[in-house]
Amino acid sequence: MTAVTDRRYSSGMIIRARTVVTADRPPSENGAIAVCGNQIVEAGNFHEIKARYAGQVIDLGEQALLPGLINAHCHLDYTCLRGKIPPQKSFSDWIRAINTEKAQLSAHDYIASINEGFAEAKRFGTTTIANLTAFPKLIPHIHAPIRTWWFAELIDVRAPEGANELVDSALEALDQTENWGLAPHALFTASENLYRRCEEIAHRENILLTTHLAESREEMQMFRDAAGPLYEFLRHIRRPMDDCGNKTPLGVFVRASGDRALPHWIVAHLNELNETDFELLEKSALKFHIVHCPRSRDYFCHSHFPLERLRALGFNICLGTDSLASNDSLSLFDEMRAFQKTFPSAPPQETFRMVTVNPARALRQENELGGIRPGFKADMIAVPCSGSADVFEQIIAFDAPVAWMMVNGSVIASVPGSAGC
Ligand SMILES: [Zn+2]
Repeated sequence: MTAVTDRRYSSGMIIRARTVVTADRPPSENGAIAVCGNQIVEAGNFHEIKARYAGQVIDLGEQALLPGLINAHCHLDYTCLRGKIPPQKSFSDWIRAINTEKAQLSAHDYIASINEGFAEAKRFGTTTIANLTAFPKLIPHIHAPIRTWWFAELIDVRAPEGANELVDSALEALDQTENWGLAPHALFTASENLYRRCEEIAHRENILLTTHLAESREEMQMFRDAAGPLYEFLRHIRRPMDDCGNKTPLGVFVRASGDRALPHWIVAHLNELNETDFELLEKSALKFHIVHCPRSRDYFCHSHFPLERLRALGFNICLGTDSLASNDSLSLFDEMRAFQKTFPSAPPQETFRMVTVNPARALRQENELGGIRPGFKADMIAVPCSGSADVFEQIIAFDAPVAWMMVNGSVIASVPGSAGC
């Protein structure tokens, strides 16, 4: 690997690699990207770029240059719980187990956990993350090293009468945060009033919302049949259960959200959808964004994620890691491999889009993130690449820390021997 520096120009930079993968066009061999400030100004053949732009040249050699990866669903709060909770007999037992672990953590522990999570996500090539936090008041104490959408996770299961105050307190904590949204946790822990209040704020502030929906069999059993371990657990802690025994989780969500088209919602999981749900999706104009978390699904042994049917209905589907309380790394490469194992016929390029183009669209950043195009933010990573195999297969097989990474035009990880900026 070599690096050449042209010191006459300090504002621009040319990054050359064996292959440049733009995510929406065929990969470009002997490719290069011209970067100015925090933006990509051109992408194409190295010789053409070199002839048109001046500046420092960073030659990444035998590597593929990719858009930085985007994790569409994560809880960095629980990075410190890796390996602490073995798979439980039921989803409600897991909720009890994580609550026991959480009761032992201080604010200091959570800050350390979030920082550790950021470091790991970055190490594995994530340059943007949609992170749910139960502690928005801690955000000012954290320096996020990558682009972050902070979602305040809201739970009012033990005090539904305080939903409005809960939202107001989260808004106050998020006041100085650049990219933020709200996350009523799930239908079984957040009241319909809380969902409605979040909807009102989303319309007023033009923000994104996210939630967990139709994740487990127990959630389906609770709402549809008013029965099962989750139903009994929540009844025991005095959750009002009059919304159970009638609709499926998706049906309740649609009612709680006011039957709108819902493009501001990023919905995690959807493992449990029955025929009534698919009829509802087919007949309605409902279009939210979906995050599938393959390894978290495997950990819980939830039902098979209905990828093909949701894709056929035109949903935008992304991948997320969920938290390390139900996963063992924050690597989206690991997540892509787990996805390919369950869906071996999925084209690798489509899988790659689920951690680049698709989550960028879910975050309303389709014109700035998730690709390598003029005008996009200069968020990129490089992974080793040879000419002997499909580049997308090589990307998904990559299983090591990412040695070169740029976020917002700054090189934040650099292999020895390559020039930084
Ligand atoms: Zn989650």
